[in-house]
Amino acid sequence: MTPTDALIQALRPDILGLPAYNAGLSAAHVRQQFGLTRIAKLASNENPFGASARVDAALARALADGVAIYPDPACGALRAALAERFGVDGARLVFGNGSEDLLSVAAHTFLARGDEVVTVVPSFGLHVICPQSVGARVIAVPMRGLEFDVDALCAALTRRTRMLVISNPSNPVGCTMDAAQIKRLLSCVPPGTLVLWDEAYYEYASATPGYADCLALLAESGLPWLLLRTFSKAYGLAGLRIGYGLASDARLTDLMNRVRTPFNINHLAQCAALAALADTAHVEASVEHVSAERERMRAALVALSYAPARSCANFLFFDAHEDALALSQRLLREGVIVKPWREPGYTGCVRVSIGSREDNDMFIDALERTAQRQINGMPAELL
Ligand SMILES: *Cc1c(COP(=O)(O)O)cnc(C)c1O
Repeated sequence: MTPTDALIQALRPDILGLPAYNAGLSAAHVRQQFGLTRIAKLASNENPFGASARVDAALARALADGVAIYPDPACGALRAALAERFGVDGARLVFGNGSEDLLSVAAHTFLARGDEVVTVVPSFGLHVICPQSVGARVIAVPMRGLEFDVDALCAALTRRTRMLVISNPSNPVGCTMDAAQIKRLLSCVPPGTLVLWDEAYYEYASATPGYADCLALLAESGLPWLLLRTFSKAYGLAGLRIGYGLASDARLTDLMNRVRTPFNINHLAQCAALAALADTAHVEASVEHVSAERERMRAALVALSYAPARSCANFLFFDAHEDALALSQRLLREGVIVKPWREPGYTGCVRVSIGSREDNDMFIDALERTAQRQINGMPAELL
């Protein structure tokens, strides 16, 4: 046994058993592997419009000041801007190197080994990985069809539950709970359980008529909660890594601030987020584009006999009627990157992001070609 073997053998079993996060393929990788020039990357729910032009200007100014100085560990300027927007005490906000970072910080702050966490399946990978990394036991409640199963979630919540983790809208499905469902779910949460409500797609969802005001419902619940949002999706800052949480009580964020690393948000990300937040027109244009293109993509999928789930986010989730990996591989060869789902029970499902008009056309054209050949009875390997 080598010294490294000895080290690894002594690790916590939760670490050795952690699944790897599936980050998908980069455009550069696919371009090179298949010798393609044009790639449609529709696997990570990024904003095809990119960030606001104000972000470019803010980054240029920030760079001119240099990068030798540590960033503001309190994210003071951004905190003040968000506190004003929400009308809350800024101490209730907490910032992360992406909201992913906050999922990890929340797990380290609020969970211990053996604690139970209730979430759904299919779900965002880190909703499972972060609790597991601290030794918590994750109970993943299957959706019913492609909708939240509130009754089953309520049945899974017990005195042993320390945390409920929900992405609303759901990633990967795109569906949402309405206000009555959210109220019912929250009424089932035992006291002393943290409700971690991930609203990464808030800007897209809130443009959908009937989208429930989750923040208001959480506030009414009287429970301890942490609402997560991000600058990665509608604001187009995924590459800079910045997200934030609003907690029911400043005592929760105070604890998270002790657990997180002090300089977890770099200076450029703080400057960019502040500029992005101010450009509401850019977000509105992005949301409008996504709403229109999502319906066009949905119609194209339906025309090919797929049945995408209801979505108010910037992606669609559908049953591929075959192994999702096989379909994704055929699309890859045409330069289209989508996300084949890998969770047990959902390995026949694909998530496709709403991209630029041109990228969406590439997806639709490629899917039409491969679906057509399937209909003509050619075996998938030859396609
Ligand atoms: C994209 C996404 C995130 C992560 O966002 P970052 O801020 O980029 O870390 C968190 N939760 C869900 C559900 C997401 O889809």
